[in-house]
Amino acid sequence: MSEINSNGKELYNNLEYNKKNYYEYISDDEKQKIFAYAEKYKIFLNAAKTEREACSVAVNLAQATGFTEYHLGDTLTAGDKCYFVNRGKSVVVFRVGTTDIEKDGMRLIVAHLDSPRIDIKQNPLYEEAGMCFLKTHYYGGIKKYQWTTIPLALHGVVVLKNGAKIQICIGEDASDPVFYIDDLLPHLSSDQMSKIGSKIVEGEQLNIVVGGLPHLDKKVKNKFKLAVLSILQTQYGICEEDFLSAELSAVPAFKARDIGFDRAFIGAYGQDDRACAYSALEAVLNGESQHTVLVILVDKEEVGSEGSTGIQSKIYTDLMEEISNAMLANYRKVRFASRCLSADVTAAYDPNFSKVFERMNAGMISCGTCISKFTGVHGKIGSNDASAEFIGELRNIFAKEGVIWQTAELGRVDGGGGGTVAKHLAKLNIDTVDIGIPVISMHSPWEMVSKADLYSNYCAFLAFIKY
Ligand code: MN
Ligand code: MN
Repeated sequence: MSEINSNGKELYNNLEYNKKNYYEYISDDEKQKIFAYAEKYKIFLNAAKTEREACSVAVNLAQATGFTEYHLGDTLTAGDKCYFVNRGKSVVVFRVGTTDIEKDGMRLIVAHLDSPRIDIKQNPLYEEAGMCFLKTHYYGGIKKYQWTTIPLALHGVVVLKNGAKIQICIGEDASDPVFYIDDLLPHLSSDQMSKIGSKIVEGEQLNIVVGGLPHLDKKVKNKFKLAVLSILQTQYGICEEDFLSAELSAVPAFKARDIGFDRAFIGAYGQDDRACAYSALEAVLNGESQHTVLVILVDKEEVGSEGSTGIQSKIYTDLMEEISNAMLANYRKVRFASRCLSADVTAAYDPNFSKVFERMNAGMISCGTCISKFTGVHGKIGSNDASAEFIGELRNIFAKEGVIWQTAELGRVDGGGGGTVAKHLAKLNIDTVDIGIPVISMHSPWEMVSKADLYSNYCAFLAFIKY
């Protein structure tokens, strides 16, 4: 007894678990790597504000690294490095390994490229009181009032009757105009300010200001709308009917920037989940691995993973089956032997809203990427509850590579909840766990992450595909 008592501090250090703030444990050299990585990431974010743009940037990076395009039915051999584009909105970047995939399985990392935003309706254009507006329907879970009175950029495509596709990107260049959703002045907001948050600004009030100069013919009706239509025709060759087959989204026009005197953090739109998408992409392009590695960057996660570009689409399993067949492996055995990281961001503990978190189990900023054993609501319902065995395996791998990581639960028990693509992958009989970086102000127009967490996430992915 007396011996243990005298070594209490040492014993405590050996037995107790504490999260580590990554920044407290790094060398100058490592800090430089973390900050250099953040610079590349910001360039990616600025170039990829929609799933289509993110997909095409991913393809460019894959091509530049020597990956070639794969089409269903193509032949494959060990060592091949490929990318497979799904309808321009999602992409699988993969490497065929040299291991026996029937025994070793695949290493999958799944992240999503879509982010909450304000979509333009199919018949959107109208004028009122000297202003021209576009009507919208928001995409994903947003606090609607956060999207007013900020500069918005318009991104997307307009598909003409003849099939020609016109790319739209207005508001990103410093010389471009931007767009705007207005809000009420405080002086007249006594009614508005007494409303609950979800009603402060309602969906049908999210109308975007796009013009205010009239057509000069005084006799014409809707002269403000006509003036906008004539600009659209001259500059983009489109007419009002073309909105019917368009996908246009308003996204924050802000660029990614460093936050803080010390630049510890990054503020940017769409870090859920392009933070994980970028890390996964970098890992498959540049990481070391003998395994067959698939990085699946999907669309539609924010609206339930539906549709032909969401993770529930058969296209991803078709591809996995084709790879298995090419390697003369039994597809069912391959899935059973595979491992998957569902790479998606989680909530960071926010000291300004501490009541919704349970501090011991919340994702702490700068303490590394977060493994969430489960998600779901009210008793883990709807969750993929990853096994202790799989998490144990990852612990071992991360320890070997010195990855700083933590576990995270989204909030207090019964405080709310959320889900990810994990359950859809697990359903395929693949061991799957959620992993991703903690985010402050998730789903807002300008989300904040720590550069340390971003880099730790990348290191975790490198370690995962290596072993
Ligand atoms: Mn997400
Ligand atoms: Mn999300």
